[in-house]
Amino acid sequence: MKPVKHVIALDVGGTGMKAALVAEDGTLLHEARRATGRDRGPDAVVETIQDFAAELLDTGRERFGRPASAAGVAVPGIVDSEHGIAVYAANLGWRDVPMRSLLSRRLGGIPVALGHDVRTGGLAEGRIGAGRGADRFLFVPLGTGIAGAIGIAGRIEAGAHGYAGEIGHIVVRPGGPACGCGQHGCLETLASAAAVSRAWAAASGDPEADAADCAKAVESGDARAREVWLAAVGALADGLVTAITLLDPRTLIIGGGLAEAGETLFTPLRTAVEERVTFQRLPHIVPAALGDTAGCLGAGLLAWDLLATEVPA
Ligand SMILES: [Zn+2]
Repeated sequence: MKPVKHVIALDVGGTGMKAALVAEDGTLLHEARRATGRDRGPDAVVETIQDFAAELLDTGRERFGRPASAAGVAVPGIVDSEHGIAVYAANLGWRDVPMRSLLSRRLGGIPVALGHDVRTGGLAEGRIGAGRGADRFLFVPLGTGIAGAIGIAGRIEAGAHGYAGEIGHIVVRPGGPACGCGQHGCLETLASAAAVSRAWAAASGDPEADAADCAKAVESGDARAREVWLAAVGALADGLVTAITLLDPRTLIIGGGLAEAGETLFTPLRTAVEERVTFQRLPHIVPAALGDTAGCLGAGLLAWDLLATEVPA
C-alpha cells in the first residue's frame, strides 16, 4: 500500500475527546473517541491527551504507512493559539498548560496547532460546512452556554487577548439573571439551551423537561411553551443584532443543541432579527451543518494549514 499523508485532529471537550486522522482532501481515514478522565485531575487529563495523540501517531504508521505529518488540537476555555498555551479551562481545571510543546515533544517533533474549541468549530463550519464560500461569517453555537467565532477571509479572529466572539456575555437584559462571568442579563443566561431548559422546567412544572421538550411543546401548540420559547428567541435576536451591527457578517451560522429544533427556531428567529434591524444589512441565517464533529474537523484544518504555511526544508 502506498503511504497516505495525513494529520491528527483532536477535539478535547469537558468529558470526552473526539479524534480523527484526516487526509489532505478531508477524508476521515480513522476516527476514535476517549474520555478525558477529568475526575482524576487536570494533570491526568493532559497525560490522557498526550497518550491518545501518541496512539493516533502509531495508528497512522501501522495502517496508513507513515505517521501523521502534523496535529491540530482544539481545547475549551481560554486559549493562546499564538504561543500554544491552554490558558484556562474551568471544566478541566487548567491554568497555563503549554499544550503545543508538550504534544509536539510527545509526537516526535511534528508541528502542532492549538485552537479554541468554538473558534476551531467555526473554522470548519465556515470553510467546509454551513458557511462554505462566505467571506465573512459569525458562528454561534447555542449549547450549555453561548459562544461565537468571527470568520474573516478564511480565518477566525481571536482578538488581542483571545476573547473575541464572546457573544454569550453581551448583556441583553440589564439587571437580568446573574451570569457565571459576573455580569447580569447576559445573552447566555436567557437563550442558551441550558437557559431554555431551566425556563421550561419552571414553566411546565416538570424538573426533567429540557429545551428539546420545550420545542416539541411549541410545535404542538402549547401557549406556555411558546411564551418561554419566544422570550429566548427575542433575547437571542437582541444579541445577534448587536453582533450584526458590529461585524456586518454575510452569513450567521447557528449551531448547538437549540438549533436542532430546526425551523421551530429559525423561522421566528429570522423574523425577530428582521424586526430589529433598521440600517443594518440582513445576513443569511442558517443552521450549522457539521454538528458535534465541527471541532474535530476544524482541528484537522488547523493542522493542514500549518503544513501549507511551512517553509520547505
Ligand atoms: Zn456572562
